[in-house]
Amino acid sequence: MHVLEIFQRDNTIFSFEFFPPKSENGWEILLERMHSFEILEPSFVSVTYGAGGSTREKTHALVQHLASKTKLDPIPHLTCVGHNKKEINNILRGYAEAGVDNILAIRGDSPSDGDVTSDFAFAADLVAHIKAFGEKKFGICVAGFPEGHPETPNRLVQLDHLKAKVDSGADWICSQLFFDNSAFLDWCDRCELYNIHVPIIAGIMPITSISSMKRMADLAGGTNFPAKLLKRLYKFQDDPESVRQIGVQWATEQCSDLLDHSVRGIHFYTMNQSAATEEIFRSLGAHTGARLRTST
Ligand SMILES: Cc1cc2nc3c(=O)[nH]c(=O)nc-3n(C[C@H](O)[C@H](O)[C@H](O)COP(=O)(O)OP(=O)(O)OC[C@H]3O[C@@H](n4cnc5c(N)ncnc54)[C@H](O)[C@@H]3O)c2cc1C
Repeated sequence: MHVLEIFQRDNTIFSFEFFPPKSENGWEILLERMHSFEILEPSFVSVTYGAGGSTREKTHALVQHLASKTKLDPIPHLTCVGHNKKEINNILRGYAEAGVDNILAIRGDSPSDGDVTSDFAFAADLVAHIKAFGEKKFGICVAGFPEGHPETPNRLVQLDHLKAKVDSGADWICSQLFFDNSAFLDWCDRCELYNIHVPIIAGIMPITSISSMKRMADLAGGTNFPAKLLKRLYKFQDDPESVRQIGVQWATEQCSDLLDHSVRGIHFYTMNQSAATEEIFRSLGAHTGARLRTST
């Protein structure tokens, strides 16, 4: 379903992000888990795209599996890095044939090895290209960074760049993960001031271990980990189950507060794990995404 119709259907958007597993075993585990995600009835799910070459085919395979074998509505991520216009058109054609209606368009980060040349310098160029694609009108999402993007320290200039993506044709914005709601809400206010009026979905990642938190800090450069959260986590760092509970509780409190602030939706960076997301849904007082969607 085109994302604009989804936004009309659902008062509050709930979505899940997956990455394509590299190993056969990881693939089997994810597919077995898919039912746990399905019963939460998210508005849609998204599938990441490797900036290097190796996992790209796996993104297509996972998206096609979700579209044809599950009730989930998949949105593939698509990066500029390493692609020319012809390749992007072929990918879009393949997704159109698979019944995919939306694309999450990002620039991607250059891999240390591999092909980085591209016909698209920035995500805004890819958005404009997808918008002009004649064979299907895809819904388009772009990335937003509430706590800044490392390459653009000037936050005002960064808002100009976000506005350029929206002006190029983006229908909605999905935010980078964050742990401090006040930073996200303040950024939403600044987007309004910059005449960015498309829906903004909040990116939430439940911390399930200290090591995964450190990996995420690497990937999501610039994200602030509040001292209050770190104090709680490090106090129990030798007790993995307590760390997990603290992470899930923090994410639950974040979601609850965001819903109180009437955010348009929440995107869960699931890391392909269903348990934490299920727990958060339960704690929010609903058994299914559908009930959550209609209860606001
Ligand atoms: C929701 C979400 C999903 C993601 N999914 C993936 C994924 O699947 N695969 C992956 O590899 N990465 C993914 N990323 C990471 C993303 O690719 C990187 O963070 C990347 O560095 C920025 O992508 P962008 O689309 O925001 O790029 P852009 O919007 O192109 O911005 C990149 C940088 O360039 C600056 N900039 C933009 N336009 C201009 C201009 N005209 N002149 C000068 N500077 C400019 C911006 O301010 C920013 O600092 C994701 C990030 C998010 C938040």
